[in-house]
Amino acid sequence: MFAQKNNKYSLVCSARVADNCSENGEWFDSEEEAQEWVEEECWIFSGEGWFCNECNSHFMQNLSKTRRDKGMDSLLPDGWDDDLEVGINTVR
Ligand SMILES: [Zn+2]
Repeated sequence: MFAQKNNKYSLVCSARVADNCSENGEWFDSEEEAQEWVEEECWIFSGEGWFCNECNSHFMQNLSKTRRDKGMDSLLPDGWDDDLEVGINTVR
């Protein structure tokens, strides 16, 4: 996940999903420094690799969109109308 160029190292974004993806971090003389830089920049370590803030927010937007869709469905479960009718019958 490190890019190497002219004896410089840079951590490459492993996600590359965002349109404005950083693609890679700053260039340093060592992999350690390159990794320290992304840690300071708050890149996210996914277990497979680091991904940049832009890709992270891309993921977050998709995640919240998915959550919202699921939330809508859970507001209208099957049988909700039945429960309401039962309640009305009980009042009568
Ligand atoms: Zn990225």
